[in-house]
Amino acid sequence: MADELPDFDEDGQGGAPSNGTGYATGTGISASGFKDFLLKSELLQATVDCGFEHPSEVQHACLPQAMLGTDVLCQAKSGMGKTAVFVLACLQNLEISKTAVQVLVIAHTRELAFQIELEFKRLGKHLQGLKTGSVYGGQPLDKDKELLKDSQCPHIVVGTPGRILQLARDKILKLDGLSTFVLDECDRCIDQLDLRKDVQQIFIKTPKKKQVMMFSATLSADTRDICKKFMQSPHEITVDESKLTLHGLLQYYIRLEEKQKNKKLFDLLDTLEFNQVVIFVSTVRRAMALDGLLQDHSFPSMTLHPLPKAFAHKAKKGDNITAESSRIERLQAFKAFKKRILVATDLFGRGMDVEKVNIVINYDMPEESDMYLHRVGRAGRFGTKGLAITFCATDQDQQVLSKVQERFEVSIPTMPESIDKTSYLNA
Ligand code: AMP
Repeated sequence: MADELPDFDEDGQGGAPSNGTGYATGTGISASGFKDFLLKSELLQATVDCGFEHPSEVQHACLPQAMLGTDVLCQAKSGMGKTAVFVLACLQNLEISKTAVQVLVIAHTRELAFQIELEFKRLGKHLQGLKTGSVYGGQPLDKDKELLKDSQCPHIVVGTPGRILQLARDKILKLDGLSTFVLDECDRCIDQLDLRKDVQQIFIKTPKKKQVMMFSATLSADTRDICKKFMQSPHEITVDESKLTLHGLLQYYIRLEEKQKNKKLFDLLDTLEFNQVVIFVSTVRRAMALDGLLQDHSFPSMTLHPLPKAFAHKAKKGDNITAESSRIERLQAFKAFKKRILVATDLFGRGMDVEKVNIVINYDMPEESDMYLHRVGRAGRFGTKGLAITFCATDQDQQVLSKVQERFEVSIPTMPESIDKTSYLNA
């Protein structure tokens, strides 16, 4: 067994809302039903089909205002249903008979854009004539041109900032009929200056009169102020940082040396019971190296990253993921439970929703406490149980861990010898 992953320096790519609604239940799910929102019958039926029994706190706190067309700036815990807030509100207000892009949703990664489009399709499946599309780097421009042809353009477009801007500049994507502008993981898109620039340039190409909605689990006061510059008297939801921790999530850390990580990881994968697990590392190269190592040891592992051509021969014959499979195809394979272990970078850290993931392992500690919160939120979605284990190999790792515990008022003890599986596995 290789002791240590090569230490490449290449970067990877990559509670209760305080709104006075009084819906502060421990699980974040309120007792009333979706019926109370007066959604179109087609949408109500879709919530039933999806198995949504009760709206979550964030849905209660935001959906009515969003449906009325009010601007919304919403901070909500990971995995508590914020996507459905803007998806349902947008679908409710859509004019299906009008052929124009009426809703534009911006997400920071292709994978998230793809996932959001799927949610529009899922909740909009009973709306006859609904057309959606997603646009992002890595797919041919001709495909986007075909999608956005005047006579058949989608009502809803979801995409990443760079590709949307390119299409808008080339007048392939026409935004003059837009009525709603949504920015998901808004702090990520606002704090990173090149993304913010793209978002701003897209924004000025949209009509003045429109609804603007922005969402994230993490939102600093400074970022919030910048977001508000895009909005008019928004309905604001904030969550105390101490309330951002997920209730069903068990969190531990393990102090070790870099060279002990692989052995420890293999031990954990052999002893813990998981449906699916996501292992976070710091760079794409490390993701590929660790995935290779896990596969060599017969673990059902994959990454989101296609193998470089020089290593294509390493792809296993007959495997459902080939060397050429794109990031989106790989994501689909993981969501379809074709593999049970995903080795990922922070590309997968935010917003990604895979129901069966019940364990997250931080093989490499994230650089920021925000990212820790997003990553571990991939387990324990929508109030379910989950387990997050973090490897601490350096003093710097330990500092990030202390910051996480301080900011989010959560205690992350050292991992015990054994853990009762019922504490992190849903019955
Ligand atoms: P999100 O926070 O938007 O990523 O959503 C997390 C997960 O919760 C997704 O799989 C949603 O389909 C699911 N979800 C959203 N709203 C509800 C609800 N009211 N009841 C049950 N599940 C929901």
